[in-house]
Amino acid sequence: MGRSEVTNKQRAARNTSHLANLPWIFRRKVKAIISALEGWGWRPVIVESLRTRTEQKAKVTAGVSRTMRSKHLKQTDGFAHAVDMVCDGIWWDDKAPGFVPYAKMQANAARSFGCRSGYFFRGYHSVVHDFAHVEYQT
Ligand SMILES: [Zn+2]
Repeated sequence: MGRSEVTNKQRAARNTSHLANLPWIFRRKVKAIISALEGWGWRPVIVESLRTRTEQKAKVTAGVSRTMRSKHLKQTDGFAHAVDMVCDGIWWDDKAPGFVPYAKMQANAARSFGCRSGYFFRGYHSVVHDFAHVEYQT
């Protein structure tokens, strides 16, 4: 599944710091998704959670996000309701042999814990673009 680029310790630290930006129920769900993926031998790493309006605006301008109503922005509860998560060693490389299996497993794990996965988004971006996105369903 590709060469590890971060140590498990670095990966855990990164995940922990992003998890702190999530409301507790969603945090528990994302932890469960991570544990499930790790149980299957993957190395999920959260690369984004909370975004500022300035960061989101830059993404909309660059065409990589479509909305200023992103769940990555601080919601009324003070937390982000979305994370972007990829597998260490694969990242966004859709040519890597593990890419499709990982994207599918993350999507199914997210769905089984009641979260929305960008993998199932249709019409705007490609799977390559959106698979990383995991969103809280309230
Ligand atoms: Zn996202």
